[in-house]
Amino acid sequence: FKINMEELKLLEELGKGQYGTVQKVYHKPTNVTMAMKEIRLELDQSKLNSILMELDVLHKSQSPYIVDFYGAFFIETCVYYCMEFMDAGSLDKLYKIGVPEDILSHITLSMVRGLKFLKDDLSIIHRDVKPTNVLVNSLGQVKLCDFGVSGQLVQSMAKTHIGCQSYMAPERISQGQTYTVQSDVWSLGLSILETAEGSYPYPPELYSSVFDQLSAIVGNPPPSLPERYSEDARAFVGLCLLKDAKERPTYAALLQHPFLTNYAEDEVDMKGWAVKAMEARIEREEAARLARGTAHPPE
Ligand code: ATP
Ligand code: MG
Repeated sequence: FKINMEELKLLEELGKGQYGTVQKVYHKPTNVTMAMKEIRLELDQSKLNSILMELDVLHKSQSPYIVDFYGAFFIETCVYYCMEFMDAGSLDKLYKIGVPEDILSHITLSMVRGLKFLKDDLSIIHRDVKPTNVLVNSLGQVKLCDFGVSGQLVQSMAKTHIGCQSYMAPERISQGQTYTVQSDVWSLGLSILETAEGSYPYPPELYSSVFDQLSAIVGNPPPSLPERYSEDARAFVGLCLLKDAKERPTYAALLQHPFLTNYAEDEVDMKGWAVKAMEARIEREEAARLARGTAHPPE
């Protein structure tokens, strides 16, 4: 079915990205709560039409590791993309409570399965694997979003400037190589590392410029998981972060790795962790709102 703006009741803002905002919306005809991503681009009608056509493949295929796509439409030159609402939010807003190894293993397993699905079933590489694009819900499901389904959309959004957190593989930084599956494996490794450590592994405040920071990614030995994680976990991340792209494992190989096979899936309390992390996130957001509200603190 088709979705249009008139059918949506706009609820709160869920977050802001480089290209626009993501908003919680309620789709009245179907009673479904969704997340609507606004992508602000100055595009002509033919490009907008080809984006909508390319997004259509998402209606035909689904995976438990990929955020459901409900539909897209455009108004003037903006694309509106409606997808499954993930109530716990993205990983970057959840990992602050700490991530035990079994949870880290479970999150990684879901990510690898999602990436493998994209590659095998849709023949696409993600291109933007990072914690803000890994979403969690209070059922304990972990799903990927913002992958490069539409060639036209990828092209139109081609980064004009790099943010202060780069998940780009060294070979892409130094040689500007086109995207490969192996570059996604690097970004996967970096995302797992960030999730475990609770912060981005190349903190901008350590570098005098973005150039320095990117040089560190290319020139320095790759970062590794903290000692509190097992040898298996550390080895897994080490394989994803091999500087030589050709040496990085395939998804099939990663799925066989002890870090992912050591834990019986149904014994990991992902739901328990997701709910706790979501509550902590909501509390933090509430505190931040209050702090903003008290412009003139009583003194
Ligand atoms: P960038 O623009 O650099 O890719 P980003 O991924 O944070 O960064 P957006 O994709 O615009 O930017 O998303 C903004 C925020 O909205 C995300 O960080 C995430 O927390 C939240 N969000 C996105 N999609 C959903 C969703 N389906 N359900 C719940 N929250 C979401
Ligand atoms: Mg995103």
